[in-house]
Formats: sequence, structure tokens, C-alpha cells
Amino acid sequence: MRMTVIGTGYLGAVHSACMAEIGHEVLGVDSEPERIELLASGRAPFYEPGLNELLARGLRSGKLGFTRSLSAAAAFADLHFICVGTPQSAGSGAADLTGVNAVIDGLVPLLRRDALLVGKSTVPVGTTAAVARRAAELADDGISVEVAWNPEFLREGTAIEDGMYPDRIVAGTPSAAADAALREVYAPMLAAGVPYLATDVATAEMVKVSANAFLATKVSFINAVSDVCEAAGADVTTLAEAIGHDKRIGRHYLSAGLGYGGSCLSKDIRAFVARADELGAGDSLSFLREVDRINIGRRRRTVEMARDLAGGSLDRRNVAVLGAAFKPDTDDVRDSPALQVAETVHDLGAQVRVHDPRANENARAILPCLDYAPDAKKACEDADLVLHLTEWAEYRELDPADLGTVVRKRSIIDARNALPADRWVSTGWTIRGIGRPALN
Ligand code: NAD
Repeated sequence: MRMTVIGTGYLGAVHSACMAEIGHEVLGVDSEPERIELLASGRAPFYEPGLNELLARGLRSGKLGFTRSLSAAAAFADLHFICVGTPQSAGSGAADLTGVNAVIDGLVPLLRRDALLVGKSTVPVGTTAAVARRAAELADDGISVEVAWNPEFLREGTAIEDGMYPDRIVAGTPSAAADAALREVYAPMLAAGVPYLATDVATAEMVKVSANAFLATKVSFINAVSDVCEAAGADVTTLAEAIGHDKRIGRHYLSAGLGYGGSCLSKDIRAFVARADELGAGDSLSFLREVDRINIGRRRRTVEMARDLAGGSLDRRNVAVLGAAFKPDTDDVRDSPALQVAETVHDLGAQVRVHDPRANENARAILPCLDYAPDAKKACEDADLVLHLTEWAEYRELDPADLGTVVRKRSIIDARNALPADRWVSTGWTIRGIGRPALN
């Protein structure tokens, strides 16, 4: 099939490459010229494992191309995926739909044949219906524009795997024809047994935000329990393992620590609450405000631990920060808990040196006031305190004895409860975790 993918960020670049990989002819469209130039030369504008290879293969096969032109998009295909950003609005929790509306306003008047627009961006319930009305007003006489919503569940760091082998496909469509088109798009996945859930558009929109709200709640649940563990001298990591064995609960998203961040969970639950308020159902989601509050509180709590371990003040301390991305295996620093902690520690007077395997440059772009090191050991030179804030696999492999030779003081906070604490203790480090009794 022929299709366009409009908005080629973390979601759209991956979706374009995956669609070409399963045999479709795909034109990716973005308003940012540099992004298009990079993608057209086979380079992802961000770090995502496996994406460069997939882009190169798509471009070589001739099935994948990129453009800035919406006219080219309108001429190229009759099926258009919308993958633009839907960030939090300035000054409220609601989603900012400027990008989605700009695509409709730009594309629809250019359509010369009937078309199906398929949203993949995460949007508040009711958006598809509003977009369909907007498209109907803008379409030329005699041109029919249908709008479906097909939310995306990929996770940065495993986005290719998630795109090629999704857990499920959710398709909210307004007609049997739109449903048939989406079944054809995803035919190879359906043949491989991926569940396909055909829904109305409102349900499809709500599936995505509900899934994210559930995951955020799970993270904040274990973080709240971790505070009680700390007060009681219990160990939240063992507790999480024990309750996680219960199949009704499951171990995923049950790691106490610095909490979630990134471009999705926080803004999606805030937008969910804002939309529920508009619908008069806000009281039912008031617990999500608490979920958000607990999550933001983790960042403050980690800074407090750092201050305590530094002897009561961070002023003029050298602090090494391991990790800047909001989670491992990505260079995305949007709403990164690690960076927020690093910034606060800097504001409290510390000299902060950050290392991240992939995100140093993105972090430097928003926090140039911090120092950045090319590797973890350099970041730790002369440190009075080390903060482990993003659980990259390479940090688990660090040799604490070796690192101990370059720091000024063997003190570390493992804000992700991911380091082998025994090894650190046995080499003379003071290590503090979240929701765990002090080990030494
Ligand atoms: P992003 O900021 O990385 O990418 C958005 C892209 O859209 C940018 O390249 C931007 O230049 C482009 N764009 C904006 N307005 C445009 C316009 N009018 N015309 C053409 N291009 C335009 O954002 P993202 O992380 O890819 O997220 C996109 C959407 O997908 C959001 O709704 C997000 O919630 C959702 N989502 C993201 C992920 C993820 O892991 N990043 C996962 C699932 C869903």
C-alpha cells in the first residue's frame, strides 16, 4: 500500500521505517528541514537501537522516502498517518493539539481524491470527532475525508521491536472501509497473530491514555510503598519481587526509584485529567493528580538524600551524575528525572559533572550550565558524591573498586535500585538505595 507518515519524530520515524520494512511504499513528512535531511540520508535524528539500519534498508529498497512538502504527501497517497507531537499546553494540563490541527489545515485542502487520515499521536478523547469535522469543512467539494485513530504503544529503546511485533493493534474507525484499510496495512502483523481490536474512535483514544495512566499509577504505587519501607526498615526491592510474582500484579513497572519521566506518561495523565474535567468526570480521575504528585516528589526526595549523604549541604561539593536520559537506551531528555535532579543539585551550589552514554548532547543543549564527561569514570573524578539516576546497563557493569580510585569520597546514591549493592559495599562504598535499609 502507499501511505504517508506526517511527523517523523520518535514515533513517526520508527513507524515510517517499520511500514516500509513490511513492504509498503512510505513517504515520511516533517516540517523540520534538518530532520528530513538526516532521515533522507538514512540517519535517525535521535538514538533508537536498530533504526539507522531499518532506515537504510527502506531507502535502499526505494520503498521509503522523506519530504517537507504536504503537496507531495497529498499527491503520493490516500492514507495518511498523523504522528506529530501533542505536548502539554503551556499553563494547563491539557494536550496542545496545534500540531494535529496544523496538519489537517495544511493537508486537507490539498487532497484531490478521497482519503483516510489515521491518527497515531496520543490525543484526548473527542479529538478524532473534532478533527473529522475540521477536515469536512476544509475538504474540496466532492472529496470525502475519513478520520480514524490507531494509537501507538511503542516504547523508546525498544521501538523497532514494538513497531514490528506489537502486543496489540487498536483501531478506532468510523466505517467498515476504514477498518478494512487498517487491516490491510497491518496484514503481516495480523497474520503473525497480533491481536487486532476494532473499536469506535473514542474508545481507541481512551485506550492509550488509560494504559499510560495505569502504568504511571503502578510506578507511583511502588514509590509510595517505598517511603513506608524506608520508615519501617523494610526492603522495597524484595517486596516488589515478591508481589510481582502474583500474575494479577506482575513485576513490570514495579521498580521503586526516581520515578517516570519522558515525553509521554506525565503529559498524558495530565491531559487525561484535564479532558475528564471538561467532560464533568474529573472527580473519578482525581487519584491521578496524586500519582503525578508522588512521581514529582521522587525527584525532591532524591535531592534530599544527596544532601544528607553529602553531610547536610551540597554547596561546593563535586557531584557526578550517571545518566541524563529519562530512561536507558534512548537519548530523549524530555522531562528527564535525572536531569531535573542534576539541575537542582547544581542550583544548591554543587559542581555537577554528568555522563550519559547517548544523551550528553541533548542534555547540554538544555542545561549548558552543567559539565559533561565522555565516560562514567571521568564524570566521577574527584567526586564527593555519585548519583546513579538512569539505569543504563553499562553502569551495572562499572567496577566500584576501580571507580573508587578516582573519587574523593566513596559515596553513591542508586536512585534506580539497579546496581549490585554488595559489590559496592565490599569495596568500601557507602551506597544508598530508594526504599531500602542502609547497607552499611
Ligand atoms: P516528537 O516531538 O519526537 O516528533 C513530532 C514530530 O512532528 C517532529 O519531528 C515535528 O517537527 C513534527 N511536526 C510537528 N508539527 C508538524 C506539522 N504541522 N507538519 C509536519 N510535521 C510536524 O514527538 P514523538 O515523541 O514522536 O511523539 C509524537 C506523538 O506520539 C505524541 O502524541 C506522543 O504522545 C505519541 N507517542 C509517542 C511515543 C514515544 O515513545 N515517543 C510513543 C507512543 C505515542
